[in-house]
Amino acid sequence: MKKDIILKVDNIYKSFGPTKALTNVSTEVRYGEIHGLIGENGSGKSTLSSIIVGAQNADSGEMYFDGKYYEPKDILDANNNQINMIVQEQGTVKDVTVMANVFVGKESLFSKFGILNLDKMYRETKKILDSIGVNHIDPKAMINSLSFEDRKLVEIARAMYNRPKLLIVDETTTVLDKKGRDILYDIMDDMRSKGKSIIFISHDIDELIAMCDAVTILRDGNITGRLSKKKMEANKIKQLMIGREISDNFYRQDSEGTSSDEIAIEVNDVSYGVLKNVFLKLNKGEILGIGGLTQSGMHELGKIMFGLIKPYTGDVKVGDSVDITTPHKAIDNKIGYVSKNRDTEALMTAASIKDNICLPSLDKLEKWGIIGKNVEKKLVNTWTNKLSIKMSSISQFCMYLSGGNKQKVSIAKWLANGSEIMIVDCPTRGIDVGVKSDIYDLMYDLKTQNKSILMISEELPELIGMSDRIIIFKDGQISGEFVRNEELKESDLINYMI
Ligand code: ADP
Ligand code: MG
Repeated sequence: MKKDIILKVDNIYKSFGPTKALTNVSTEVRYGEIHGLIGENGSGKSTLSSIIVGAQNADSGEMYFDGKYYEPKDILDANNNQINMIVQEQGTVKDVTVMANVFVGKESLFSKFGILNLDKMYRETKKILDSIGVNHIDPKAMINSLSFEDRKLVEIARAMYNRPKLLIVDETTTVLDKKGRDILYDIMDDMRSKGKSIIFISHDIDELIAMCDAVTILRDGNITGRLSKKKMEANKIKQLMIGREISDNFYRQDSEGTSSDEIAIEVNDVSYGVLKNVFLKLNKGEILGIGGLTQSGMHELGKIMFGLIKPYTGDVKVGDSVDITTPHKAIDNKIGYVSKNRDTEALMTAASIKDNICLPSLDKLEKWGIIGKNVEKKLVNTWTNKLSIKMSSISQFCMYLSGGNKQKVSIAKWLANGSEIMIVDCPTRGIDVGVKSDIYDLMYDLKTQNKSILMISEELPELIGMSDRIIIFKDGQISGEFVRNEELKESDLINYMI
């Protein structure tokens, strides 16, 4: 092993049943290097990381770390080798304090004669939080009272307490706000300057290019490329990820907004929370983009239109007479809703792909109170094929799917039910370019079938790229409206948002 290499993984294989998650994976990370790991959802990034950090074993292959053969028994063993990982999911322990989370498994450091010295634990936690630039979190606070972002910072503190020689950061920056991201970037820079190493996993190609000294690219569990800083270029990386050229513009290509004159759904005088007397109409065959800041009320609007939230005033109408007052009525009237919070609201992650897709259609699948298994299977196969959902089988639990494939399932369940109106909230959040482009194609397809889409989005290029018309919300009111045209720029929209 070359002297400047801290980690070498060699010829790693890993399968889950029929899914080949990693095939012949070999790569190297240098001392003092931020090494990017990129690939579409499901390409094997988290699997490789979890093998390095001892959370699971490879089926075959070898690893070398810090000059020695390395075969971690478990996470603790990896930690003892000074390898730590910030996981993609929530990694904190519930129902205990921040400091208990930082020192989970290390309580003995603070215990004497079986009694925990909480003051010392408090001081040490404060010290480690301060050292990474976090001073707004109280070590004594209960972890559940913290936002998802702050909990991630606690995880980072826990990892840094171990003084890792190798830190793996798995898609953490997407869930952090600007401040959190800066904290993490500082830590990474600092580690690099001390000759330590980072494996950095991110969807954001620009961020990756800015941060990393080298990058390894995975596609379907195979390494398709390793690029040094000099050779890193966004289109090159995308091509290696996708295996086909993706043009910069994967949005629809027509330049004019079109729709039928017929109204699909209308919102009349709706007030709720910050929303004040909102009126809007969505036409058949229209993609209506809704933009604004997170707090502008636009996310609540989506829930109101699906009957999940009852507005203080006003109503939501389909046709002349039907008021959408409950999700049940929404579903009966062929409305589908894809929540921004995919894992908690859009999907039952602890249920199979089949059960998720069939859920809205159960009434229809039932005959004399019995659900025909074959009918069910046929429906699910049709939609998993149409949306090219990557899975081991339709019985696979959704929690094991990648973000992009989860999103496809949460869209498929409404299409399987024949929805005519789709309300989608941040439909491509945290999803990589390949699946993104599939979802845009699908949306455009639905439009050409005269279906209607209300797309709530925080991404301006997506609003401009996909909408026939865009409505901007500011402080709960409509502040601007734009019809699709070639001149429309992001700054035009931003002016109406703030
Ligand atoms: P990435 O992190 O690049 O999105 P993952 O490493 O999470 O990808 O997944 C790679 C592949 O392995 C995917 O097809 C995924 O569905 C599958 N997979 C990962 N973990 C499991 C598991 N515990 N059981 C079954 N399949 C899994
Ligand atoms: Mg992952």
